[in-house]
Amino acid sequence: MIKVLVVEDSKAYMMAIKRSLKIDFKDIDICSAYSLAETEAILKDNPADEFLVAVLDLNLPDAPDGEIIDLVNEHKIPAIVLTATFTDELQEFIWTRKIVDYVVKEGAHSLGYVSKRIKRFYKNLDTKIMVVDDSRMARKHVINLLESQKFILIEAGNGREALDFLAEQPDIKMIITDYHMPVMDGFELTKQVRKHYDPETVAIIGISSSESNKLSVRFIKNGANDFITKPFLSEQFYCRVNQNLDIIEHVDGLKTLAETDFLTNLYNRRHFFRIGKILLDSSDRNKMDLVVAMIDIDHFKKINDTYGHDMGDVALRKISDLLKESFRKTDIVARFGGEEFCVAVTNTKIESVFNIFDQVRLKIQDTDIAYNNQTINCTVSIGACLEKMDTMEKMVTVADKKLYEAKEGGRNRVVF
Ligand code: GH3
Ligand code: MG
Ligand code: MG
Repeated sequence: MIKVLVVEDSKAYMMAIKRSLKIDFKDIDICSAYSLAETEAILKDNPADEFLVAVLDLNLPDAPDGEIIDLVNEHKIPAIVLTATFTDELQEFIWTRKIVDYVVKEGAHSLGYVSKRIKRFYKNLDTKIMVVDDSRMARKHVINLLESQKFILIEAGNGREALDFLAEQPDIKMIITDYHMPVMDGFELTKQVRKHYDPETVAIIGISSSESNKLSVRFIKNGANDFITKPFLSEQFYCRVNQNLDIIEHVDGLKTLAETDFLTNLYNRRHFFRIGKILLDSSDRNKMDLVVAMIDIDHFKKINDTYGHDMGDVALRKISDLLKESFRKTDIVARFGGEEFCVAVTNTKIESVFNIFDQVRLKIQDTDIAYNNQTINCTVSIGACLEKMDTMEKMVTVADKKLYEAKEGGRNRVVF
């Protein structure tokens, strides 16, 4: 649930904003005020930190000169400012205040933009950005700009330090880096980051000074997503940051879609091997065990032949759900194709692995699967590889061999 304060004196526009926000956000609590005085009253009754953001009309009858921004600033609520007219002076005035962004009221399009900005802002709370610059002052300037957008921030004084932080915290989504730095400069940092992370996983924005257009180009050629030239307007900076984050999140969404099985919502084979490699590497680093198991439904063809393909689909979905809830979020559960699944489990005591998979087997055997007034039960055979190898492919091959033994041995069993 997100809570938003909306201040707008036009009843019609207020209604339009509320309607638009309710369509775009499933869980939203909107506090509305029509004047500065009403806003003061709301802020007396509601703790300011409950508000994610405030949407503010710049001109109110009792606050014609943007006083509403100062009031909301005092309460440290991030603000998106609405304005009917727009001039250079106004733009400057708005950005001297602490705001997230401003929106010019121009029909339905601007309401869509308000929602888009709120969504971005909400995601920022979980988005980690690292700022790399040897000059403390330059770094602080960028940090201050990003702080008002509520990012999680990390500071590094040179490329080397940045690489160390990235190794510890692979959830860093964006690196904003200066070029000239001691120990390791911005180009070398960019090159090093690109050895492990593609531009869709970690975005890099280079910062260079205006005297050198060549630097900007070279940033891109070394693998940066974008660059920005100093000195820059804060608005220009935010546009770059937001746009690059939007792109990598969009690509991430497409990747997930391309790696998700349509029928069962489990990951597919491609995802298993891509993420599996990362899991294998990190289990090596952390000296953890890793187990790979193949799971195959027994005599599934007979279920299709006897009860129909739709019942077969229902069974596949049910068993997929059971598998997903049987393992941790950090494990991988994938549908490899047909009625065959593959699971990778880390951080588990090898002694208890048999029990874990046997419990899964029993749970599946004991679950009634109902469709069209008919109820069936399915069993699965499981083959597992307990020995860590240098690739996931090799581990899957061993698990597959064990699965074959489980089938040969009479099915509905676990073989290691
Ligand atoms: P075994 O115990 O040896 O594994 O026998 P089985 O019948 O399960 O194995 P087999 O490989 O002979 O048959 C697998 C069946 O799974 C055949 C195919 O029609 C069915 N199947 C594969 N994908 C789907 C699907 O998406 N939906 C349904 N309903 N059936 C599927
Ligand atoms: Mg089968
Ligand atoms: Mg099969």
